[in-house]
Amino acid sequence: MARPRVFPRGGARRTVHGTTLARVTDLDLIGIAARLDETTSYTLPAFADVACLPRSVVYAWIGAGVIPPGRGAGGTGTRRRWTGAELRAALTAAAEGRRLPVQWDVAPLTRYRLGDRDPEAVGAQSLRSRDYRRELAEACFPPAARARVIALIGAGTPVDQAAAAVNVTRSLVYGRAHRDAEFGRALDDAGHALCIGGVCGSATAYRDGCRGTACRREHNDAAQRARAGQA
Ligand SMILES: [Zn+2]
Repeated sequence: MARPRVFPRGGARRTVHGTTLARVTDLDLIGIAARLDETTSYTLPAFADVACLPRSVVYAWIGAGVIPPGRGAGGTGTRRRWTGAELRAALTAAAEGRRLPVQWDVAPLTRYRLGDRDPEAVGAQSLRSRDYRRELAEACFPPAARARVIALIGAGTPVDQAAAAVNVTRSLVYGRAHRDAEFGRALDDAGHALCIGGVCGSATAYRDGCRGTACRREHNDAAQRARAGQA
């Protein structure tokens, strides 16, 4: 799918305060807009979740005028909110270049996230890169989505399809299982539902595409036996 761009191709990248803005336009703003529900009221964390962006980027967008400040901003004890319709209008306008960012004076780490690669930005990123990857993974695959994946797989939905149902990749699901022991166990337990008794747990079933728990175990054991044989 072609991604919307605000700025023309070929060298006409705009900079403000020396910061390249092209990166924000590489994001699929129209895709994000399409995931919003017009009548829902979104808090900033809720919008960041839907957009699969760190919250700091949403703050940067507010600072840059990509999206409006939201109702409740600046008040005491209130959280800023937007309707899905407001956010969708702002994102669509940004994607179509009708509302260009006018100010982009943000922290080095945020500038890195938006595409800057000067020493200051790279330094901030290397300090935070692991945290950042976790933050992104968490934003894209929040607890509710993880629970849904487990429920779907437990009901016999293949991992690929279960992942697609919550807009993540299979590798993100397995990556999470690798880092998060609790989720890994839940995935293993649910994955038993994918295997067929009497057929699964063999190299053939894995080759035929079964990624149920019995088949994955057999596949991993076989790989280990092969490595041991080579050693
Ligand atoms: Zn199987």
